[in-house]
Amino acid sequence: MSADKLSKVEKLYEGKAKVLYQSTDPSLLITFFKDDATAFNGQKKGSIGEKGVCNNSISSNIFMMLEAHGIKTHFVSKLSEREMVVKKVTIIPIEVVVRNKVAGSLAKRMGAPTGKELPEPLVELYYKDDSLGDPMINRGHAKAFNLATDQELEHIETEALKINKLLVEFFKGIGLDLVDYKLEFGRSPEGVLLADEISPDGCRLWDINSGEILDKDRFRKDLGKLTETYQEVNRRVSSMVK
Ligand code: 5GP
Repeated sequence: MSADKLSKVEKLYEGKAKVLYQSTDPSLLITFFKDDATAFNGQKKGSIGEKGVCNNSISSNIFMMLEAHGIKTHFVSKLSEREMVVKKVTIIPIEVVVRNKVAGSLAKRMGAPTGKELPEPLVELYYKDDSLGDPMINRGHAKAFNLATDQELEHIETEALKINKLLVEFFKGIGLDLVDYKLEFGRSPEGVLLADEISPDGCRLWDINSGEILDKDRFRKDLGKLTETYQEVNRRVSSMVK
């Protein structure tokens, strides 16, 4: 069945920013991007107008760019303004954070100044569990608690660094500094695929010239201009791809 003829059959899961539906093709799901925004493990809740539309468009374009460079992702097609067709995967319960500069929890943990350049990209692993507040783990924890195999961890970390090179260059091309971001991977019959989304919800993006924050930190820190920020990132990403 061609992906643009698919329709939603059943709601499988509703997350903080997206809803997942089973589609009429058993191997494909439909992700619906909401405007809801949360921060601090769900303690702060709000809505950002047009966020779902922007994140669907930004993520679709970025997945296509990564696929064109040989990264295997769950992306199949953009179905509508707010919907994306993705391959069905079993999410590996590890959040992979890649950092190029110090910010956020790393600044706190290490007592380092925000914005300090890291000598090389830093890959961190977190156990994806909201009830525990997504604690930081290492490979040993991931193996001991059967979150992923050695082979999967090796693959995920190698892939994360490849993805980082591509994303840093891509964002640089649209005047954005990719400070850090979160990736998720999923198991599928064709192996481990990059999954979830890549959008300003899970990335820190700073304007290269002005230093202006153009990501969800504007919501976390009440900096205003929320819709405008997501639209600006979408405008820049679209200009690069189309
Ligand atoms: P930090 O550890 O500094 O809070 O976050 C590092 C990076 O990963 C930031 O770009 C942040 O947006 C992203 N990140 C970490 N955890 C999550 C999460 O649970 N959800 C989302 N959307 N992004 C996350």
